[in-house]
Amino acid sequence: MRNFNEIQQTNYDLIVIGGGVNGAGVARDAALRGLKTILVEKGDFACGTSSWSTRLIHGGLRYLEYFEFPLVRESLKEREILLHTAPHLVKPLLLTIPIYRDRSRPYWKIWAGMILYDIFSADKTLPPHRMLPPAQFKQLFPSIDSDGLAGGAQYYDGQVTYAERLCLENIISAKEAGATVLSYVKVIHLNRQGNRITSLTCKDYWTDQEFIVNGHDKSIVINTAGPWVDYVCQSGMKDGKEAPIGKTKKIGGTKGSHIVVNPFVGAPNTSLYVEAKSDGRPFFIVPWDGMYLIGTTDQPFKGNLDQLKADDDEIDYLLRETNNIIPNARLSRKDVKFTYSGVRPLPNAEGKKPGSITRKHIFFNHSKEGVTNLISLIGGKLTTYRQVGEEMVDLVFKQQGKFVPPCPTGDKPLPGSILPGDPRVQRVLTEYRDRVSNQTMDHLFSMYGSKTLDILALIDSEPDLATVIFPELPDIKAQIVYAVRYELAYTLVDIMRRRTTLSMHSDYGIDLLPSLTETLSRYCGWDENKCRQEKERYIDYINNNCLPDFDSLKTSL
Ligand SMILES: Cc1cc2nc3c(=O)[nH]c(=O)nc-3n(C[C@H](O)[C@H](O)[C@H](O)COP(=O)(O)OP(=O)(O)OC[C@H]3O[C@@H](n4cnc5c(N)ncnc54)[C@H](O)[C@@H]3O)c2cc1C
Repeated sequence: MRNFNEIQQTNYDLIVIGGGVNGAGVARDAALRGLKTILVEKGDFACGTSSWSTRLIHGGLRYLEYFEFPLVRESLKEREILLHTAPHLVKPLLLTIPIYRDRSRPYWKIWAGMILYDIFSADKTLPPHRMLPPAQFKQLFPSIDSDGLAGGAQYYDGQVTYAERLCLENIISAKEAGATVLSYVKVIHLNRQGNRITSLTCKDYWTDQEFIVNGHDKSIVINTAGPWVDYVCQSGMKDGKEAPIGKTKKIGGTKGSHIVVNPFVGAPNTSLYVEAKSDGRPFFIVPWDGMYLIGTTDQPFKGNLDQLKADDDEIDYLLRETNNIIPNARLSRKDVKFTYSGVRPLPNAEGKKPGSITRKHIFFNHSKEGVTNLISLIGGKLTTYRQVGEEMVDLVFKQQGKFVPPCPTGDKPLPGSILPGDPRVQRVLTEYRDRVSNQTMDHLFSMYGSKTLDILALIDSEPDLATVIFPELPDIKAQIVYAVRYELAYTLVDIMRRRTTLSMHSDYGIDLLPSLTETLSRYCGWDENKCRQEKERYIDYINNNCLPDFDSLKTSL
């Protein structure tokens, strides 16, 4: 139960709608620069597009083809910042591009792209590219199709294995800096008087209680609802009557799906960036969390944003194209462990090829539509969320007619930031060596960074929390308790899908449910009823969002 009375009595400088990575980045920046900030998210933090990406922190090599040079430059700058401010979450990733004579991107073009990418990365710490002649390529990658091979290229980008946790750390940092952050609260009306939004009507998911978030005469409302941006605008109210804001559609989302598979015959030990044989689209095969993440597709989307799932033909496309490049892989539908889909919040560009729609972010100021204190974000990659926050908060100060304080997020570490040589790492390795395995320690540090120390501290008072959740997995019970007590997790889906990656392991996480609910009832006060409801909710989620239609597990759930 949450008490919304205090919130109703506060007048906020900044109201952020949507707790994906962009909303989280804006709220963190605003709170750190002293704005009285509230962020409202209709589901869990990062439950939208931010949890459905390829998890790359990348300059976007592909964007060079569309001459989006400023976007590449900006993304590479952000990549470098994240490698330093979140080294526990964002790690360098080596990518390999096989180049074939019969495909649309010849050797010289990739080479030119590599040189440009290096030039744009000139002041960065990651190593430059190298080109591989065919003989060397075949030696390094004997399992990759060599028919028509013209050689290869290798370069570095970043990977954020736990993208949901990148968003969460921004939320936690915003909260620590004084922002109010609410999950499971939906904005249902933007209430307008004259040409300003004066308040928001919100609804708590758990109690159906409605309450008001108030602004003041200089407040700004930021719409970072990702692919839902237009729906938020449609919820405008004026003088108690429905009054949608603006008539034009701003978002023209495209759907992208991924599959997760176990390591397979011929699987590469670096990431592959491959041009699909059937349609020339580039896609990734990425080692990820002990498995492989393969994606993505890119299709115009007009359906229900809250019921997204990979279609059979998207899954078959990704399997077929992986088998084309690694013929011994022979992946089939039965190898698919997990799937997920998201909709990119791209600008509406009716009739344009999905891959060619710009990936740069646009701030839409609704003054043109008669509302002077609403700004919507259109687009915005995971990689550039910090930059979006910086620019947006600068704009807010300017629009409020105030001095713009310097943005702190360019060098302020995220809450879990820690470097491998930190003396605290060695101390806990020694202190907990009899209770926690090395594999679990590595896992905890790569997921929680310095917050590993807080998780381990739970074991001091409750030794049972050092027990692993499932024999083959490194995760321990303390993570579950930590998620509920300190990471704003409410449901099994929050815990298994966004605080950890337990959903992706062992039969969609179904096998883990008894151990998890036992822990939650023992340490977090979940009663029998809550445990049953949560198991049902979890199974619905897996069925609706992650389980392919052809998968036989569905009948056994
Ligand atoms: C398939 C795919 C692959 C991608 N790969 C990459 C990649 O490798 N690297 C990269 O940099 N980018 C990638 N992206 C892009 C990136 O993931 C997104 O652009 C980014 O996550 C968008 O974040 P966001 O916060 O704007 O939107 P979202 O994460 O969608 O957040 C919006 C939030 O608003 C909430 N909301 C909606 N309506 C309301 C309401 N009425 N009240 C309250 N809350 C509301 C939603 O629940 C949601 O959580 C990829 C995207 C896709 C789809």
